[in-house]
Amino acid sequence: MKYQYAKRMANLNCPEVGELLKIAENPRILSFAGGVPAPELFPVREFIEASRCVLEESGEAALQYSSTEGYEPLRSWIASRLNSRQGAAFDADNILITSGSQQALDLTGKVFLDEGDTVLCESPTYLAAISAFKAYGCKFQEISTDDDGMLPEALEAGIRSAECPKVIYTIPEFQNPTGNTWSADRRENLARLAAKYKLVVLEDNPYGELRFEGTPLPSVKSFDQAGCVFMLGTFSKILAPGYRIGWVAGEKETIKKYVMAKQGADLQCNTLAQREVCKYLELYDIDQHIQEIRKVYKKRRDTIVQAMETEFPKEVAFTRPQGGLFTWVELPESVNARDVLAKCLEKNVAFVPGGSFYPNIPRENTLRINYSNLPEDKLVWGIKRIAEAIQESL
Ligand code: PMP
Repeated sequence: MKYQYAKRMANLNCPEVGELLKIAENPRILSFAGGVPAPELFPVREFIEASRCVLEESGEAALQYSSTEGYEPLRSWIASRLNSRQGAAFDADNILITSGSQQALDLTGKVFLDEGDTVLCESPTYLAAISAFKAYGCKFQEISTDDDGMLPEALEAGIRSAECPKVIYTIPEFQNPTGNTWSADRRENLARLAAKYKLVVLEDNPYGELRFEGTPLPSVKSFDQAGCVFMLGTFSKILAPGYRIGWVAGEKETIKKYVMAKQGADLQCNTLAQREVCKYLELYDIDQHIQEIRKVYKKRRDTIVQAMETEFPKEVAFTRPQGGLFTWVELPESVNARDVLAKCLEKNVAFVPGGSFYPNIPRENTLRINYSNLPEDKLVWGIKRIAEAIQESL
């Protein structure tokens, strides 16, 4: 049968990343490829207790359908966390629970993007956000980005020259893929420009709580007086991604639109999962848990940075993130990271070539390395293999 697929399917091909993540699941491969938290840090015992309490105390409600907006006590918890930590002024009605923040990206496309609209984004940016938005037929305007975020002049010029600019997508804290963090000035400027040009800002922040050092910076939302900024968040990196509990937070009228968009997608998030996460937050100290995660990831960041300093040829540059899960490597222009990957796979090591993180013009001499999911000895062993492969390609 020759199927007549929707036109949008032509926009949705990033097969090599799917293939790579499958290869990386092979236990013989040492993988720096996924954005995967360390499973030994999941609070399994605590979740056994939380799950038991939920089923004993409210089993019938926990197994029933529930509202699209999400479990009210969980939405209230998220609102007060965003208020106390990120300068928001929300209550539960500003929050929609989503199936991971990934669903919030997709719903943003559904709510805001018509075919031909433009999404402005960092260059490079999160590859699964590119695929989520692409499904809605949008264009991308990549904004030149340095260690402190999008360059202000480039952003304003990008907004002015884009065709139907609608959404500015950004990951200001420990960005995926570069690990870089926006300065406070750039955040303020972003909120100002969004208000000036009446654009929506998506402040996607899955890694902000995983800061190893330095002072926390004000969110883009905290500078937003016009209601332009929508905050995306998730429990994936601070508790467990398997629950698939994330959120979008912003102006109530627009959150109602997101609710309508979600109804058609899946009616609601898993009732039991929402209640279990909420019970965990009631019974245990999540900040103590996050402290543990930070300690482990900081050690891994230190190890990998030291290994790259020792092992990589001097022509290779890489980021030294102050938090999060990733470092970003730039090879000399003449070296293609896909060739380096082919050599690494022969040595049973994988990473994601950086070209996939650019929606328009890929820079193929780049690659992303995830350091959260491997113990220190394996990190060092793997970096040595990547260094060998780079040497062979030079
Ligand atoms: N945004 C960014 C920047 C991410 O890196 C990820 C996960 N890797 C997500 C959103 C989606 O995470 P989740 O759906 O698990 O909340």
